[in-house]
Amino acid sequence: MHDLSCALLILGGGPGGYVCALRAGQLGLDTILVDKARLGGTCLNVGCIPSKALIHAAERFHSLSQAAHTPSDLGISAAPPSLDFAATLAWKDGIVAKLNSGVAGLLTRAKLRVVTGEARFLDGKRVLVQTEAGPQIIRAETVVIATGSAPVELQSLPFGGKVISSTEALALPEVPARLAIVGGGYIGLELGTAYAKLGAKVTVVEAGPRILPQYDAELTRPVAARLAELGVTLLTQTKAKSLSPDQTALLVEDAEGHQTALPADKILVTVGRKPVTTGWGMQELVLAQNGAFLRIDAQFRTSMTGIFAIGDVTGEPMLAHRAMAQGEMVAEIVAGQPRRWDKYAVPAVCFTDPEIVSVGLSPGEAKAQGLEIKTGLFPFQANSRAMTTQRSDGFVRITARADTHVVIGVQAVGAHIAELSAAFTLAVEMGARLEDLAQTIHAHPTQGEALAEAAMKALGSALHI
Ligand code: FAD
Ligand code: NAD
Repeated sequence: MHDLSCALLILGGGPGGYVCALRAGQLGLDTILVDKARLGGTCLNVGCIPSKALIHAAERFHSLSQAAHTPSDLGISAAPPSLDFAATLAWKDGIVAKLNSGVAGLLTRAKLRVVTGEARFLDGKRVLVQTEAGPQIIRAETVVIATGSAPVELQSLPFGGKVISSTEALALPEVPARLAIVGGGYIGLELGTAYAKLGAKVTVVEAGPRILPQYDAELTRPVAARLAELGVTLLTQTKAKSLSPDQTALLVEDAEGHQTALPADKILVTVGRKPVTTGWGMQELVLAQNGAFLRIDAQFRTSMTGIFAIGDVTGEPMLAHRAMAQGEMVAEIVAGQPRRWDKYAVPAVCFTDPEIVSVGLSPGEAKAQGLEIKTGLFPFQANSRAMTTQRSDGFVRITARADTHVVIGVQAVGAHIAELSAAFTLAVEMGARLEDLAQTIHAHPTQGEALAEAAMKALGSALHI
């Protein structure tokens, strides 16, 4: 095969890589995108999208089961639902497939070249791709590494058999009767909640003192309460050791050194993700690293001229929307635009039940930075919309500078609160003041009113509490 050459070569077609390619196309850069798997990366194929589809289906099944088994204040009763899990997964796969072809269509429309196969660096300007048609060399003036991340494996619990990662958990042949989850972080709790709602007996084994250590305890408390309601057993300060010798149970050890065997049909290990940096010639380039991740500057430059990196391969926060924003910006930088990473607000959403949103600083983080702050917390118990949807657990909490009243952080926990992340992020990114939020008319009755009320609370003038 003839060598290919291009101005910009993007390695990895996940949210970081494919968005970079689309923007590069708009800017007229001669671009090639390489991916060894289906376009859309972890997020579209085995991450954000299939997990949210499963979470939705599980909630539907659970609420129908509730209607059948628990007397309803609403006067609604229903027959017990049945679950055809294969059909549920087929529906989920259909959404993924539709989005896959959507991404492919966008790339085609932008007249971008896509090469399918595993890439391997030959040197800083040349990559060898093992395509179905044979080896293909691609020469590039600039390379963007967007190879993402992969699940961390525990040495004592290697993946295989009943020990699974999130990828297998999104494609199980049936709902496991007993599911043990190692790691009470994002994936463990999002998928753990879904499987509990689908009828599995779920036990979460978390090494730390509480779940979701990324968020403060005030935010995670309503999630822990709901997990208990759903019958999920939470074992904190407990470490997973190994499979029992007869492979029927997970052996765990608590902080006092007591060992217990947890019988389990599947053991889902979700203890974090690691960058995809080995096995494809990247190590030989000896790029500077930040721990296991690639080190980049505010313009996504690695330590080698002409090589940029974006997305999960560059570290926390490992979120799709961060990868996308980096992808868009790096294309502009490669095209010669004077851009640098100056985003103040990167929202984080955990799709548990209730959902958690965090943007900017929490009160604890602000105080740790020595800032004088004003805070306001408005509970959904006092929000009429929350009452009419029978979910008044949770709150919106706002943090502002005491001197200027500029909002530096918003956190919330509540059912469907993810959709309010846009309002929170806009407020923080645009440097809104408490007065801006308090004096903006928020539609009634909506959960959004809690944002204005939290701002009013911080100003000492909350109306509904
Ligand atoms: P990736 O999406 O990992 O894409 C990297 C791509 O590079 C892959 O397609 C891979 O095939 C390709 N690749 C790797 N090496 C090579 C090579 N040598 N040659 C060719 N191609 C290669 N984030 C959110 O923001 N919201 C969520 O709700 C959310 N839910 C998640 C749920 C789960 C179960 C998981 C696992 C993750 C979730 N994430 C979520 C995280 C999100 O998926 C990642 O942050 C995001 O996918 C990172 O994008 P990326 O482009 O950096 O890398
Ligand atoms: P995580 O970092 O969210 O959680 C890992 C948890 O495992 C932590 O609570 C940690 O204390 C615990 N842990 C580590 N070692 C352990 C051990 N040996 N025994 C018991 N517990 C142990 O990691 P994750 O859930 O694997 O998710 C990986 C990343 O994927 C996240 O950090 C996030 O960036 C991304 N993600 C995001 C979303 C979202 O945005 N909604 C959803 C899923 C995943």
